Amino acid sequence: MICRMTKANLENLLLEPEKVPVEVRKHVEDCPECSQELAALESTMLALDAWEAPEPSPFFEARMGARLRGEREAPPAGFFERLRARLLYSSNLHLRPVAVGALTLLVLIGGGTYFGVTSLNQPANPSAMVRDLQSLDDNSQVFQQLNTLDQQDDDSDSGQSNSNL
Ligand SMILES: [Zn+2]
Repeated sequence: MICRMTKANLENLLLEPEKVPVEVRKHVEDCPECSQELAALESTMLALDAWEAPEPSPFFEARMGARLRGEREAPPAGFFERLRARLLYSSNLHLRPVAVGALTLLVLIGGGTYFGVTSLNQPANPSAMVRDLQSLDDNSQVFQQLNTLDQQDDDSDSGQSNSNL
């Protein structure tokens, strides 16, 4: 029992021993098994402190860039196109508004992820503003599409036509 409690507190024994109950601290001194585990954890932590991340090889960045370019130039078919087709042309007509909403959300999330990934490839400073503008542009396209959907509904109700479209 006390052994289990001690093992749950091993990190605290190293990092914040004053927060560990006294009986646990005492137990570690008496119990060879627990003190051995504490020593093992301590040496692991020391090793991690001394560990330094190795420099990436000089080719890493070039290969990473090539890979990102390849992904970007790949045909956009894939997941979103198939999902869109499935959602829009499926027979569940009553689910369409829900499906369109879900798709919009996915596009927004997906767009964010896309820009997050590609920004690795760009210089840090000018790209932030460009990226914001690009994502604003993307979002406004989405909202335009949504407005178009709304206006189509309105048109069918009132019979007015919209010359802007
Ligand atoms: Zn023990």
